[in-house]
Amino acid sequence: MPHAHAAVLLALIVLGVLAGGATGWIWGEDMLAIAWLGELFLNALKMLIIPLIVAAVISGVASLGDIRKLGRLGGITVGYFVGTTAVAVAIGLLVVNVIQPGVGLEFAPPSVPEAIAAKTEIGLTDILLSLVSPNLIASAAETQLLPLILFSILLSAALTTLGPVGAHVIGLFDGLNEALMKLVIWLMYFAPVGIFALVAARLGKAGGGEAFLAEVAAVGLHVVTVLSGLALHFVFLAVLLVLISGRGLGYLLGLLRALLTAFGTASSSATLPLTMECAREQAVNEKAVRFVLPLGSTVNMNGTALYEAAAAMFIAQAYGIDLGVGAQTLVFVTATLAAIGAAGIPEAGLVTMVIVLTAVGLPIEGVGLLLAVDWFLDRFRTAVNVWGDAVGAAVVHRFLPNGP
Ligand code: ASP
Repeated sequence: MPHAHAAVLLALIVLGVLAGGATGWIWGEDMLAIAWLGELFLNALKMLIIPLIVAAVISGVASLGDIRKLGRLGGITVGYFVGTTAVAVAIGLLVVNVIQPGVGLEFAPPSVPEAIAAKTEIGLTDILLSLVSPNLIASAAETQLLPLILFSILLSAALTTLGPVGAHVIGLFDGLNEALMKLVIWLMYFAPVGIFALVAARLGKAGGGEAFLAEVAAVGLHVVTVLSGLALHFVFLAVLLVLISGRGLGYLLGLLRALLTAFGTASSSATLPLTMECAREQAVNEKAVRFVLPLGSTVNMNGTALYEAAAAMFIAQAYGIDLGVGAQTLVFVTATLAAIGAAGIPEAGLVTMVIVLTAVGLPIEGVGLLLAVDWFLDRFRTAVNVWGDAVGAAVVHRFLPNGP
């Protein structure tokens, strides 16, 4: 996308978010009338995800040339994901221990929806099992991206060993990837309207500004805790970006369209097409764009990890349960796993939080405390998730042979 278009579009998207917030605040439920516009935008993004991921990963992995290089690229990527996720959880634990938002809270939680309460049995083996799908079409239909990504990596590896026949098929996916990115650019022009409608309708669904404020007030310190933790982590990632990749404000501005889309959609998967296009415009190496970003959008969720840890501790405090160093270490580990296991869709983190709660013996009903404001915090943590992926692509770019 030309620079001038990108700048105007960014301004319009910012306007969309602000106007969406203002109209949803003032007119509340009336704004539900335009919810379909947001849904249209979201559906169009979702329409692109599956073909884009398959084409991007296959052509990205194949472009490494020698498939043995995948080990190095994969190693750096996973190292970055694990390292930043650990820092995110640590920041989450830090802020919640300092602010202590749950201590002395007097608030009767609403009951927990069946979808969350039924998840008590999720464990490590379920996360491992989710890597391999017995039915790729069914996984695609349910936007379970991890098995699709794994399959695409393996298929691409196999294709690179086949000589001319394999190259032919890879060429097909290269072309498909280019065409899909074109579609993403076209769709971006609709983003300001789509994001406006998404924000306005969601705030409208919450009943407008006053109802929303009342919900926030009930668990106000929890909101403050999570937002300050996310802000700290955002800055940490920015510092990492500057130190390792040598990029800075320009990169942040270039990625802002994707970050605001993450805020609007509350889904890092739905945002992926835009994240890839923005990173590409910032001259991030195609290999990093096509490998790190799809993988990151589903396994690297810094914001979610931070949230899982902070929210679990908040619940413990609210129930007057004292978690010592041992239990907090368990929260550390399980919050990391829960973030990896969470899908890049709205409020997925709330569901996988059950893993953390059961591991340290906290009541599942505690999730009820978070329900009212989760949709709101979800938008911020999704933006941090996407920022983590974007910084990751720039960091990995730095380590590629033809880097800066
Ligand atoms: N909505 C988040 C995402 O898509 C996941 C979550 O934390 O609920 O990245």
